[in-house]
Amino acid sequence: MKAIVWQGVNQVGVERIPDPELLLPTDAIIKITSTAICGSDLHLLDGAIPSMEKGDVLGHEFMGEVVEVGRDVKRLKVGDRVVVPFNIACGVCDPCQRGLYAACDNSNPNHRMAEALYGATSGSALFGYSHMFGGYAGGQAQYVRVPFADVGPYKIETDLKDEQVLFLTDIFPTGYQAAEQCGILPGRDVVAVFGAGPVGQFTARSAQMLGAAHVIVIDRVPERLAMAEAAGCQTINYEQEDVLVALLESTGGRGPDHVIDAVGMEAHGHGPGHALDMAERVTGMSFDRITALRWAIMSCAKGGTVSVPGVYGGLVDKLPMGAAFGKGLQFRMGQTHTHRYIGPLLGRIEAGEIDPTFVITHRATLDEAPELYKTFRQKHDGCVKVVLNPWA
Ligand code: NAD
Ligand code: ZN
Repeated sequence: MKAIVWQGVNQVGVERIPDPELLLPTDAIIKITSTAICGSDLHLLDGAIPSMEKGDVLGHEFMGEVVEVGRDVKRLKVGDRVVVPFNIACGVCDPCQRGLYAACDNSNPNHRMAEALYGATSGSALFGYSHMFGGYAGGQAQYVRVPFADVGPYKIETDLKDEQVLFLTDIFPTGYQAAEQCGILPGRDVVAVFGAGPVGQFTARSAQMLGAAHVIVIDRVPERLAMAEAAGCQTINYEQEDVLVALLESTGGRGPDHVIDAVGMEAHGHGPGHALDMAERVTGMSFDRITALRWAIMSCAKGGTVSVPGVYGGLVDKLPMGAAFGKGLQFRMGQTHTHRYIGPLLGRIEAGEIDPTFVITHRATLDEAPELYKTFRQKHDGCVKVVLNPWA
């Protein structure tokens, strides 16, 4: 089959590799009909997430048709159309039983490696996301092996198009969880979202669905800010305005009640920190790391929430803890417990509350994907979200 593979730092290619096979009785094989490139893939490209190996298949946002099931798979049958959460969860361990699928105890056989490289346990395994997160092949390919097939894949039994449901695999639940965990008081609270990438876009719309009185989105890419404006958000270009002043002025001096960092560790700007020292040594790139998170803490209103869907790894230092402590902020963060949200959010799509296709700016084949990785990385050509058709 054809697949997009990691070939080294900042190198992505298309290769022909063997089709995946069932390895365990609880596996299924999915023929992928649509897949997407995510901001999280850029961390792999940068080398910010260690333990990728040449030839590893990328991709964790995908959906398709079940073509083979292991003998212990009960819920799925050949021909089912499914979306697959980006995290792999066993469904039976204590965290899974509590709905904390992204913290699954059993899906990542390499959790000791994650502890050694990241200094802490990493939670569940992920598709296409390094050996530290389990070494499972990803879904920017024609087929994928899905472990724990009775737990993750969610059947789509309506006639919604792939593009309307594809983002249930990651960025819609991720934006929704980031907003939900703020505990927004409907009709009162102001929510600020740093980052107008795909995750930030779904975060802003989720905050609106959860009743935020006002949503402010901060970025520097004009097309991305325009996309947020089209949804009725106020926007701030952090290269043109002093963000902290603008946020105070927009909120009567109080600051936003909740601030969401949908940027993560590759934030532009200037701020001290040690998150990516290793990645900087490896790549020779400079990551001015934690600016958005610092701005979030500095701007948040007293008693508010700083919610962090943006990915951080390793050690991060020099955060304004005095401000956080003084204002009594609460922090919420982490990988998304995607499994929890697919059903309810599919309901919102079916009810017409949101049409997730708004975020798609580019559609491409697997052969075109390496070029599209560059476009997405550079945020050129108005690129916000790339969807790939593995069979085109
Ligand atoms: P993206 O790279 O397309 O978007 C990031 C945006 O942040 C860009 O538009 C960039 O211009 C902007 N930005 C950079 N520095 C900024 C700053 N200082 N202030 C404001 N904006 C700034 O990525 P994406 O796909 O939207 O993903 C965003 C983050 O969410 C990534 O870290 C990704 O790994 C993470 N993510 C997390 C989960 C999860 O489970 N928690 C799931 C998916 C993605
Ligand atoms: Zn993703």
